[in-house]
Amino acid sequence: MVFVVDVQVLRPREVPLGGPRAMTVRRTLPARERSLIGAWCFVDHYGPDDVGVTGGMDVAPHPHCGLATVSWLFEGEVEHRDSLGTHAVVRPGEVNLMTAGRGIAHAEVSMPGTSVLAGVQLWLALPGAVAGGEPRFEHFVPEVVRVNDAVFAKVFVGEAFGSRSPVRVESALVGAELRLFAGGSVTLGLPAGFEVGVLVDQGTARYAGCELRAGELGVVAAGAVGGERELVLAADAGGARVILLGGEPFDEEIVMWWNFIGRSHEDIEAARAEWNGHGPRFGFVAGYVPRGDGSWWMPAPELPGVRLKPRGNRRGRSVG
Ligand code: MN
Repeated sequence: MVFVVDVQVLRPREVPLGGPRAMTVRRTLPARERSLIGAWCFVDHYGPDDVGVTGGMDVAPHPHCGLATVSWLFEGEVEHRDSLGTHAVVRPGEVNLMTAGRGIAHAEVSMPGTSVLAGVQLWLALPGAVAGGEPRFEHFVPEVVRVNDAVFAKVFVGEAFGSRSPVRVESALVGAELRLFAGGSVTLGLPAGFEVGVLVDQGTARYAGCELRAGELGVVAAGAVGGERELVLAADAGGARVILLGGEPFDEEIVMWWNFIGRSHEDIEAARAEWNGHGPRFGFVAGYVPRGDGSWWMPAPELPGVRLKPRGNRRGRSVG
């Protein structure tokens, strides 16, 4: 049976991470055309970078609220310290989920022994009902699932391919790394109500019939597949490594600015003032030592001169 599925292709833009001397990441979400895939609201993809050239990762203490960060590496190691007192090393194939809730601060630095760094940094928007909750940090090492002869998966958030991650997320979601060997293909089999994105890390993938190159994020809308309409992902003769991101459409408008998510311009203003004024809400990151003449913390920039506008998936509703 032949049918057509529209795949929205988001192409990456390069963004310096954590200051002018910092490494560059490829950002596909948020994009002008799309703000969210389920609750996934931010997708940064980086590497493989020669740390001897880029200097690696050195992100000084900075705050988050209203979101959760998901760190997933392909190569290299990153040291994480946060204001809960967590000191963890992020390693390839191990997920670190930091749920900011009302507020947390953290620093991320590539480990001294790391020569090549590659991975993704993802954010999840927290539903308004829990966005002001207690911060927490979770770590999990997913099993390697053999989906078929040529496809292997590591499910780091939610459930897919018979594997389930125990990390706690606040809406129906999936996040997984898929490795497709030469000519491998897989039917994704996710709930029909999910929006489903595929970010290609290496190789070329064919997603619902659409060719995606490395760095591109292809997205299929909720309800586009289901029943006999299956969502198929395939690799060409070179194989592919991808990140699968899906979830129930996030039915709330959010205001996302710098490292904060709120529901209004005032939420963001308050978070910014608290961080820059060294208030207690985000806490203190112990143990971070800047390199050279680097800073001990990252102040929030000036707000734009206009009110920040909410955005989301809702259509045909006025905002503001
Ligand atoms: Mn961060």
